[in-house]
Amino acid sequence: MSVRLRLTILYIGLLACTLALFGSFLYVLFYINMQTEMDESIAVRTQDIVDLFNANPSQFTENIETYSRGDYYIQFIDREGRVELKTLNMGTGVIPVNAENLASIAEKPPQFETIRVGSSTYRLRTTALIDVRTQRVTGFLQVARSLDNLENTMSRLRQVLVISIGVSLSVAAVLGSIVARRAFRPIDRMTRTARRIGVSGNLSERVSHRNQQDELGRLAATFNEMLDRLQDAYTRQDEALSAQRRFVADASHELRTPLTTIRGNLDLLTHFPDLPLEDRGEALSDALSESQRMSRLVDDLLFLARADAGQKLVKTPQDVAPIVRDVVRQARRLSQGQTIEVEVIDGVMVLGSADHIRQLLLILIDNALKYTPPTGTIRVSMRVMGDPPVLGIAVADTGPGIDSEKLPHIFDRFYRADVSRNGSGAGLGLAIAKWLTEQHGGAIEAASEQGRGSIFTVWLPALSQDEQDSMQEPAQRPIAAVAS
Ligand code: ADP
Repeated sequence: MSVRLRLTILYIGLLACTLALFGSFLYVLFYINMQTEMDESIAVRTQDIVDLFNANPSQFTENIETYSRGDYYIQFIDREGRVELKTLNMGTGVIPVNAENLASIAEKPPQFETIRVGSSTYRLRTTALIDVRTQRVTGFLQVARSLDNLENTMSRLRQVLVISIGVSLSVAAVLGSIVARRAFRPIDRMTRTARRIGVSGNLSERVSHRNQQDELGRLAATFNEMLDRLQDAYTRQDEALSAQRRFVADASHELRTPLTTIRGNLDLLTHFPDLPLEDRGEALSDALSESQRMSRLVDDLLFLARADAGQKLVKTPQDVAPIVRDVVRQARRLSQGQTIEVEVIDGVMVLGSADHIRQLLLILIDNALKYTPPTGTIRVSMRVMGDPPVLGIAVADTGPGIDSEKLPHIFDRFYRADVSRNGSGAGLGLAIAKWLTEQHGGAIEAASEQGRGSIFTVWLPALSQDEQDSMQEPAQRPIAAVAS
């Protein structure tokens, strides 16, 4: 059974209960009211007759007929319950007398009762007649009125109530089902949209709803938000998948070149065993340098694959100056004549992994060495700015610079700005540097002027004195580790 039908039935059921309750209440109230009115009229007439009896007992019998007007049935009985006098409108009928009750009637105030005579019902009041002089009960006066009219009125009222409640319920059922259908229309729309999306997979569809504030509006908004998130997740997944494919394709391509060179050289050595010693040495040296390049490439690929798998760095407070000095010392050994200047600020602490900060700086300085002519200068410097403090480590060179169009792409994987000058690089170094910086909660930026040089700056959040104090304990632990 649909929710719409269930709601309509529930609504009709509730309405039926309410109307039945209201109808019954009205009916009972009306009945009590009518009966009270009748009882009051009987009481007034009884009192009139009693007054007449007390005032003039002798002429009492003659005048009694006048009191029967308006359908009052009057009967006198003696103390034993025998009928002494009754009004003519009763014909041959008598009001039934329960002789056993007469004694108690004399003692308590007059009571009303409903009696049945033949097929009719009557409202009856029996009153004891007391002689004013002797104060003795001389007999009983019974005044009755037929309840037939009242019964007829009540029966008509019953019919009116039943019919009007029936009509009201039918109208309410029709209107209720129309209202329920209208109210559920947005849900139907949402169901259709969801089904369409399920079939077509088109996540750009949205549900529209006029009133955004009501429950259905909120449901539509929530449904749309969920679609937004789903679409977003699918787009990201799509992008990640195509990035993954690109990565695999680029990696295979990059690996193919050294492998082809190695194979070519080995083929040469195998097929021409009589090759001059000089050529053999050249072929072997080529194969060796290509295998070294390949092994560097495989290391980088492995590093990025781990990064993609969600590798996290274990970070502890690090003093950056000694790390920079250490990397510069290492880099000077690789220099082919370039001057490497360094300017550090002691005591600047960051939360990080020393090994990875070293790796990050080595990539930048290694690039600077790679692209700067032997007469050039490379300058590594530190500066602290702002509050909360941020540490900037800049690696500036006097190399050829990078084309401004290519600059935004240099942090992409496998991107090489200038293939002719690049030599052995596969375009992964800066992608790794970017990931390492981000893992330290920082950012990396590059500025370059063609023909004048480039500056790569790594911005890392520095620890304030308070933060350093509160981290004193963890600083005692091992400097860096990699969580896999
Ligand atoms: P690669 O291993 O090819 O150097 P990177 O990711 O480190 O890969 O660098 C990407 C590209 O950015 C390089 O191919 C090069 O063209 C350019 N590049 C990086 N550093 C410099 C620099 N200091 N001067 C000029 N060009 C640079």
